[in-house]
Amino acid sequence: MTSDTSQTLSHRAEAPPPRPSGDDGPGLRPSILDPLFAPARGLPGVGPKIAPLIEKLLGSEERPARVADLLFHLPQSGVARPLCGSIRDAPTGEPVTLGVTVVAHRPPMLGKRAFRVLVEDGTGDISLVFFGMPRGRIEKMLPIGAHRYVSGRIDLWDGTRQMVHPSRILDEAGLASLPAVEPIYGATEGLTSRVISKIVHGALDRLPVLPEWQDPAYLARNRFPPFAEALRIEHRPEEAPPPPVEGQAPPASPARKRLAYDELLASQLALALVRARQRRKAGRVNAGDGHLKEQVAAALPFALTGAQARAVEEIRADMAAERRMLRLLQGDVGSGKTAVALLAMASAVEAGRQAALMAPTEILARQHYERLVPLAGAMRLRLLTGRDRAAERRATLADLAAGEIDIVVGTHALFQEAVAFRDLGLAVVDEQHRFGVHQRLALGAKGEAVDILVMTATPIPRTLALTFFGDMDVSVLDEKPAGRQPIKTITVPVERIDEVVAGLHRALQAGDRVYWICPLVAESEYVDLAAAAERFEDLQKHFGDAVGLIHGKMPGPEKDAAMEAFAAGRTRVLVSTTVVEVGVDVPEATIMVIEHAERFGLAQLHQLRGRVGRGSKASSCLLLYRGPLGQVAKARLEMMRGSEDGFRIAEEDLRLRGEGEVLGTRQSGMAAFRLARLESDGDLLEAARDDARLIVERDPRLSSERGRALRVLLYLFEREAAIRLIGAG
Ligand code: ADP
Ligand code: MG
Repeated sequence: MTSDTSQTLSHRAEAPPPRPSGDDGPGLRPSILDPLFAPARGLPGVGPKIAPLIEKLLGSEERPARVADLLFHLPQSGVARPLCGSIRDAPTGEPVTLGVTVVAHRPPMLGKRAFRVLVEDGTGDISLVFFGMPRGRIEKMLPIGAHRYVSGRIDLWDGTRQMVHPSRILDEAGLASLPAVEPIYGATEGLTSRVISKIVHGALDRLPVLPEWQDPAYLARNRFPPFAEALRIEHRPEEAPPPPVEGQAPPASPARKRLAYDELLASQLALALVRARQRRKAGRVNAGDGHLKEQVAAALPFALTGAQARAVEEIRADMAAERRMLRLLQGDVGSGKTAVALLAMASAVEAGRQAALMAPTEILARQHYERLVPLAGAMRLRLLTGRDRAAERRATLADLAAGEIDIVVGTHALFQEAVAFRDLGLAVVDEQHRFGVHQRLALGAKGEAVDILVMTATPIPRTLALTFFGDMDVSVLDEKPAGRQPIKTITVPVERIDEVVAGLHRALQAGDRVYWICPLVAESEYVDLAAAAERFEDLQKHFGDAVGLIHGKMPGPEKDAAMEAFAAGRTRVLVSTTVVEVGVDVPEATIMVIEHAERFGLAQLHQLRGRVGRGSKASSCLLLYRGPLGQVAKARLEMMRGSEDGFRIAEEDLRLRGEGEVLGTRQSGMAAFRLARLESDGDLLEAARDDARLIVERDPRLSSERGRALRVLLYLFEREAAIRLIGAG
């Protein structure tokens, strides 16, 4: 059932099911896991002062922090007894340890709260700063003239370097008694890494002996320790990890890999169970005789690329099969996904059914509709958006229900309740990452075993596609239509904006068309709008009526008019907030200017750049930035200059940002992993996917001995919604 799927995918938001003890039937958590799901506040060392801090770090509104949450809060690193640096060379913002001599005490001045202790080594001096700590204690810890080892982070404050509340102050004897390696945890204000470490030790003592759910041969081959041992190793490191190599993540230990693999297997197994169930619900044959496909092919002004032809064949074969299609069409911007979608929809219509194409924005839905009408041959198309007048809308709904419409193109208005089809065969969802999983599923629920094709222009790295879609089938458009010119990308400091404007003068005289994207101000659409309006007026001074403006707050018809004017060449510079980002297609546009490019993410920059370079004329992209650039921003702009390959850019994006944000998955309610890191554990993910497939094939009800252990794994990582599906068959 589709709603079950969504539950599985958004499992983190669910409270664990209530459970009477001693029963491990489907839907009930095995009691062996009880100690791990007990509240963390029952652990030794978690008093009334610490408990709220632990909640802040690991709990959520829906549920308090549990013992398992602490155990899964792995230390970020195990640090060898810290080597001392010198004050002169110590970096700011990172943990350092310094051997220093105490020079002076500076008690709080009138009205101030900070007690400062001036310390020095042979290379320089800094202040240690304490707030609200009794003076006697500070003087005892740091007597004048004493030699001490202090650890902490040096920050710049008012131009001077200081260390606020050192995490540790030791004398020689104290240093000698430190353990060689100490785990460092992500902490929260008021809760230090060392306090967490102590509490975690208490949690480790509660760790039950769990059945092994992994294949013993696989464990042996990879030298993976058992689950409980892996947790112990990670929380009580005895060996320091090897020092990181510049620009590379440190290699993970077998223990950490094991834990990551457990989590990945749980997620892949849950997806595989959902899929198996979906497949069991027979799909329908959506095969036709190809006559509409022929009409479309004849109407297309170009020949399909090899990749397009291949994708069409894959999709049509899938639709013709009896199982239900769930396929991802992945293709970089401009690779021609729309034509593939139309040919797929033709197949459903040939089979006597209807098809729906859902776009994320009004502009795009309209553009798709207008593009498709002349290509559709005998197929009857209609547009349905939230902007339709009531009478119009009523007519559309009636025609859809009566089967008078073959293909409906629309926005999210399509999956509203009132929309009923006579017989929906295929739902195509464009620019998938803009929609949540729920919306996609809601559309699928509009008919009986609807085939689903999801199209995305944000190239999803394979690792991510696997994570979110499991063994969803994937077609890739890895070939651009012939005759495309490379896009020249340059970065320009904003101080040189006058030169850019002068360059536009020349370009406009030569007949070019220009997008000018205004700064993205994440906090407020209205601020975006103000910036765009200002730029619009400024450019109007130079180019008069040739300048148009479009932004997200415009009423729909005005948006259409602005887009129309630009597409028709009545305006030739289109100043825009990021509304043009997704999918807009004006082949004559050859110049893309992006202001404050340093504020955009890589994927977004790539999407924006993809708006040009769509025709046969050479195109360019100007990334205006305001310096100084941070490291990540610099890396992004370099990447944009160096590559046009969406897949490489997406992989790099993943590396720079981490998996959580790449797809905007936060909005769609899917949680990131706690133990696995997609940036580095991609190989494990593939293995987990294969493993999960095999398990479901051989033991679909998880009733073997390993199967029962795997149920424990699913509960442990809160993927148990999938277990209910097994029961429901
Ligand atoms: P996207 O994959 O970004 O959605 P579109 O479907 O909008 O790409 O196609 C981009 C442009 O390329 C459109 O103008 C389309 O007409 C054109 N196009 C698509 N396929 C081909 C092809 N095989 N040969 C030439 N042009 C093509
Ligand atoms: Mg598109």
